[in-house]
Amino acid sequence: MLVEMVALDLETTGLDPQRDSIIEIGAVRMRDGQVVDEYSQLVSPDVPLPREITDITGIRPEQLVGQPAIEDVLPQIVHFVADAPVIGHNVNFDMDFLARQGALRGNLRLDTAELAPVLMPAASRYSLGNLAAETGIALKEAHRALDDARATAGLNSQLWLKPLDLPLATLNEIVSAASGLAWSAEPVFRAALEARDLLSTPDVIRSTHGSTLFPPLQEGMPLLAPEDAPLPLDFEEIRQKLGEGGALARQLPGFRERPQQVQMAQEVVQAFNQGEHLMIEAGTGVGKSLAYLLPAARWSQVNSRRVIISTNTINLQEQLLNKDLPDMQMALSEPLRSTLLKGRGNYLCPRRFAALRRRKPVNQDELRLLCKLIVWLLENRSGDRSEISLRGPGERHVWSRLSAEDPLCSLERCRSEMKGSCPFFKARKSAECAHLVVVNHALLLADAASEHRVLPNYSSLILDEAQHLEEAVSEAFAFRLDERLLRLQLAELGSANSGVLGELLRASQGLVAAAVQERLKEMIDTIAEAATLLQHHAGRLFSSCRSFADDVGPPRNNYTMRLRIVPQ
Ligand code: SF4
Repeated sequence: MLVEMVALDLETTGLDPQRDSIIEIGAVRMRDGQVVDEYSQLVSPDVPLPREITDITGIRPEQLVGQPAIEDVLPQIVHFVADAPVIGHNVNFDMDFLARQGALRGNLRLDTAELAPVLMPAASRYSLGNLAAETGIALKEAHRALDDARATAGLNSQLWLKPLDLPLATLNEIVSAASGLAWSAEPVFRAALEARDLLSTPDVIRSTHGSTLFPPLQEGMPLLAPEDAPLPLDFEEIRQKLGEGGALARQLPGFRERPQQVQMAQEVVQAFNQGEHLMIEAGTGVGKSLAYLLPAARWSQVNSRRVIISTNTINLQEQLLNKDLPDMQMALSEPLRSTLLKGRGNYLCPRRFAALRRRKPVNQDELRLLCKLIVWLLENRSGDRSEISLRGPGERHVWSRLSAEDPLCSLERCRSEMKGSCPFFKARKSAECAHLVVVNHALLLADAASEHRVLPNYSSLILDEAQHLEEAVSEAFAFRLDERLLRLQLAELGSANSGVLGELLRASQGLVAAAVQERLKEMIDTIAEAATLLQHHAGRLFSSCRSFADDVGPPRNNYTMRLRIVPQ
């Protein structure tokens, strides 16, 4: 392990090292994990202090009056840091400001914002404040340089311990995948690997490869075989379960009969029996979930017909899955099969994941996500995206190429290869056998848009949180254009000498006849030319959008701006 390092943080007037100025420097020197010295200095900026920076940092313009200029402060910080490796949270941001001033250009940079996403795959967010809260590190005043540097130092000390517990095979794979990508987290994994060698720590063998990656599907769940003519529900049976002294009251302490809940259940029973549409507005405290779940469950059990329950929020899905459905099961004499089904994009595709591991990542977003997944899969085998946090659009883009949202996805093809262990395959199978399937509005709408190829057949649909449906429809059928993502995708495409197209041309050499190779090269040149043109037009499009936003929107700053255009 590195014995001496400096955690460093800057506050600045904005995000651009060319235009903006440093207003505060904080640094903490650590030796063998212990803080041995600290440095803190306010700096008088060359440009006015924007109001939003005062809002974020709490630093007021009058506090900067009379403070030294950056030229006078630089020798102090250069002396303080000397040649120690510099740790920061998004360290490149801070170091680029200092490098612009000609300071600390050659120091090794270590980034906790790169390490944390790999070593804390389930953290809810990767901001310094959030990571400090999740790891119990005190952060007195967020966005003040010394406090941020202290929190970074504490976070770093915790993160450095984690790689020491990873299996040797995992450390080796991470270090080998990082080769040639100048990743600022790589020295930590390399140091851990060397420390493990020196200490001869016993290795933990955990396989994260092939069909052992995820547990296999539990076979034997029967499919639903719907009755031709459905049998009507008996409301009296439902009323008794919801009533005073009924099955729910006997099982759930504090359960009381609620007349409005019983009335709502009666309306739902009638809608099922008559095949009618029903719209209900139920206020808080009615107990609406049980009022529709109980009739839906009995309808599905009695008639072997599946009911879909669609919600808008994850909170409600969790409440249904973790509380209401288990509560209700206690009131039913027959077993009820219920499950949550998410969109394909939520499940990791083991086939694509294995392909990335074989070919090795080509950029830092791929590398960081690959390492995060390898670490995550050591402990968690669900393959469900909701159990990890993805950092920024780059990681989200890579995930989309590793998820089950794959045009080549074929359950049949992977059945033997994955031996039924593919997370999407298992979720889909479990939904095909379930009486009640909980989904979100987005997935329901994706099913509607794809001629019902997303969800298993169902006979009835319950929309909870239906007031959000209109918004969900706008979201589901929206068209999105992301400048960074578009440029990233076009750059990945490359040309005859680089990127995916270059790889394709190289891979085809010797495999196809010379004439075919020549034709392929021509096609690749045409595609690359079109991609360059597209980059040019995209640049003009986004620049027009920015001008439009400048003309009609609020004053522009460096942060996200939202402009909603509505008809007059
Ligand atoms: S079934 Fe689809 S998601 Fe699963 S491994 Fe095969 S391609 Fe990937």
